[in-house]
Amino acid sequence: MNRTTILALGSLFVGITVLGIKILAWKMTGSVALMSDALESIVNVATAAAALLAVIYASRPPDANHPYGHHKAELFSAVLEGVMIVAAALAILHEAWGAFFAPRVIEAPVAGLLVNGAASMLNAFWCWMLINEGRKLRSPALVADGKHLRTDVISSIGVAFGVVIAVVTGLPWLDPLMAVLVALNILWAGWGVMRQSVGGLMDESLPEDMLEEIRKVIATEATGAYQAHDLRTRQAGSAIFIEFHLVVPGDSTVHEAHEVCDRVEAALDRLLPGSITTIHVEPEEKAKRSGIVVY
Ligand code: ZN
Ligand code: ZN
Repeated sequence: MNRTTILALGSLFVGITVLGIKILAWKMTGSVALMSDALESIVNVATAAAALLAVIYASRPPDANHPYGHHKAELFSAVLEGVMIVAAALAILHEAWGAFFAPRVIEAPVAGLLVNGAASMLNAFWCWMLINEGRKLRSPALVADGKHLRTDVISSIGVAFGVVIAVVTGLPWLDPLMAVLVALNILWAGWGVMRQSVGGLMDESLPEDMLEEIRKVIATEATGAYQAHDLRTRQAGSAIFIEFHLVVPGDSTVHEAHEVCDRVEAALDRLLPGSITTIHVEPEEKAKRSGIVVY
């Protein structure tokens, strides 16, 4: 079992635990705001299960009908997560609407908030873990999970404040108002998660600073070639694909040209471990004005 899978399993475990604790806090108090907090966790459990399946599938090696690998399964799970975040927000708005017109009294607020707070601490720890590890492993699904959890933690803090103020002031509409704010925050997070994953599904190029690194490696390692052009890169989950044309002297042998290619491929693999490079070799009359000049 690899690290990504272990983290996805951990998310599922943390999600279920937090859900149980937050439902307890909601039942103790009867607060709509705390209910919205618990509802967020149901989404977490569902998306953690989806992400786990995606990660297991994404790590499969290429096969006959998926020769480029299964990396994009991760992006699908991130998009699905965005959709579910939006669905949760709408459910909370619906509940809050009802509570505005039929206000409820919050019971046992101190004990309820302590229980809820314990679950939020667990979430805070796990969200830090996910974002950190997700970035290291270049897994958009893990980072998306972590960012989603972070919005949960922030909104949980807001909810706790709101419940305290509602109890102290005795204003019944503060509780559903808090729930509405939670829902809006969740909507915003859902939008962010979806936008980023769609970028991956659309084969977005690597960021400019990384492209600059790649150009530098080609310029210094492709000795024996004249230039490179038509550099194209794309990312699919944790996989990186690099393609370009390499212009070599027209009278060089296949052996010589291949040796240059192998050297550049090895150097790019050192720069971006696990990246897959494809090089198209051309004679000098195919050179372009806007190419990467080899030193
Ligand atoms: Zn060309
Ligand atoms: Zn080769």
